[in-house]
Amino acid sequence: MGRLDLIRHRLGIAGSQQPQPTGNRNLDRHPIARVRHETRRRQLTLATIERLTPRMLRLGFTCPDLGDFVSASPDDHIKLFFPDPEAAEGTKPPMRDFTPRKFDVAAGTIEIDFALHEAGPATSWAASARVGDPLEIGGPRGSVVVPDDFDWYLLIGDETALPAIGRRVEQLRAGARVATFVTVDHDDEAQSFDTLADWVPNWIIREGATDDAVLLRAVLEQHELPAADGFVWIAAEASVAREMRSYMLDVRNHPREWIKAAGYWKRGEADAHEKIED
Ligand SMILES: Cc1cc2nc3c(=O)[nH]c(=O)nc-3n(C[C@H](O)[C@H](O)[C@H](O)COP(=O)(O)OP(=O)(O)OC[C@H]3O[C@@H](n4cnc5c(N)ncnc54)[C@H](O)[C@@H]3O)c2cc1C
Repeated sequence: MGRLDLIRHRLGIAGSQQPQPTGNRNLDRHPIARVRHETRRRQLTLATIERLTPRMLRLGFTCPDLGDFVSASPDDHIKLFFPDPEAAEGTKPPMRDFTPRKFDVAAGTIEIDFALHEAGPATSWAASARVGDPLEIGGPRGSVVVPDDFDWYLLIGDETALPAIGRRVEQLRAGARVATFVTVDHDDEAQSFDTLADWVPNWIIREGATDDAVLLRAVLEQHELPAADGFVWIAAEASVAREMRSYMLDVRNHPREWIKAAGYWKRGEADAHEKIED
């Protein structure tokens, strides 16, 4: 059995499916709002370390001034400023974008999930962090708020997208149809989310394969899109996210207004964030 057959087999799908146009194109029905927030820096203190899966660390922080923290959308991001004791005076600390996975402004707590990879200031800091360590954050600067009234949601990504995907799946209204397609290295990287939504998870295991776009597309080709209004969200390595957006637009004829895609990192480049548009 080839790799793609193996994936199909695991997902319990077979046969091929023709691309289908989706939605009835009344695009005004689900207004997507852009909201700006006042940005400020906050000092966090690491309070808890939880290994969610072998390659995903959840770090929980306390913050005395979280009272006016606003994160209106599951895919908001904050800047993390990593302390670098060896940096020359006056140089800026390395900063990277992360998703506020969970937060409680009344309790003054915030959690951030780190997908560990080979090397980089963020991954190294998270892997060696100890309770009591300080961390500075900034933002979110704004939110793109997608309404909760789409008939269905399709969320596509890799490990770096999982915090935002988890937040959205957990927040969706009871019974909302949401399918997630996430590439991970091994079976044991799959996560579960508490949700009232009608969530269908699809974990696509790389097992050594290096092209997430090929894997995702093979599985998505078998996925029937309901003939009603749907929102598609994509976040992954930049070239993968671009290919997935093109696939949804050009092959599945999904309305571009109802697709949001971003490169959450870029192979061979540090600190990359790409909004993927036309
Ligand atoms: C809006 C937004 C939200 C994000 N939210 C999260 C989040 O909640 N959790 C999370 O873990 N990540 C998240 N990311 C991704 C994260 O910002 C990047 O992976 C970031 O590059 C990690 O920084 P680093 O210092 O570890 O590596 P960098 O110094 O930035 O990169 C070093 C090298 O590692 C490579 N690299 C970077 N990330 C990965 C990766 N995931 N896998 C393999 N190679 C990689 C780069 O190509 C580069 O060659 C988010 C990104 C964006 C844009």
